Amino acid sequence: MQTPSAADLLLAWERGLDQSPTRRALSLLEACLPGVTLDRLAALPIGMRDTQLLRLRESLFGNSVAAVSECPDCGERLDVAFNTNDVRHMSVEKIDAETMEPQTQAHQLHTGGYDITYRIPTSSDLLVISTADDIEPQLALLQRCLTEVQQNGIPVQANALPDSVIAAISKDMANADPQAQIELGLVCPECSYAWNALFDIAAFLWNEIHAWAKRMLHEVHTLARTYGWREADILAMSARRRQIYLELAQT
Ligand SMILES: [Zn+2]
Repeated sequence: MQTPSAADLLLAWERGLDQSPTRRALSLLEACLPGVTLDRLAALPIGMRDTQLLRLRESLFGNSVAAVSECPDCGERLDVAFNTNDVRHMSVEKIDAETMEPQTQAHQLHTGGYDITYRIPTSSDLLVISTADDIEPQLALLQRCLTEVQQNGIPVQANALPDSVIAAISKDMANADPQAQIELGLVCPECSYAWNALFDIAAFLWNEIHAWAKRMLHEVHTLARTYGWREADILAMSARRRQIYLELAQT
């Protein structure tokens, strides 16, 4: 993984403005993994994708995360601070760091009299089900990820499964790919209510990059107006040198 240049990150951000959250996450990965095809990135299990997004976040903004959450019980806003290392899971699935080719495995589950084989959902799955508006998303995802379902040796369709079995599969899938769902154990300082809040690294990093991009364009605007420099030249400067010129421009 390489840290994207300011120009490349701005390009990914600009493209991402018109994209769905899932596609945006892939645009960010394209910027830091330029040798890997989009299809390959989209085929990563969500947890593996999020592992790469965490690495990108660390290379751009460091390991410390400061987020805000809201108590579901009393509505109190609370500051949440943690380190990215605290939310990193060791994946049972392995990946080739150069090619991003995952060595995924089939997962098996026996529940409610059914024998189920499935694979972990990927960004491709999320992109496809987001365009299928005639079917419930959870069922659409299962139809794509269940590779074999049998009851007493007889094949069964995903849409014929009882709700309890669907719930058991969803839970097993989440356990099999823990990095896909980062949960933070929080306690409200106001009312002592305790809950698990989801931390969505894709959405969080996108918001950070969105704020960064707007700051960066403002800096380009100030320097271009003051010195007449080209956008490409300003973006090619180190952040430190850009900051010094900005201070000089404002004196
Ligand atoms: Zn509370």
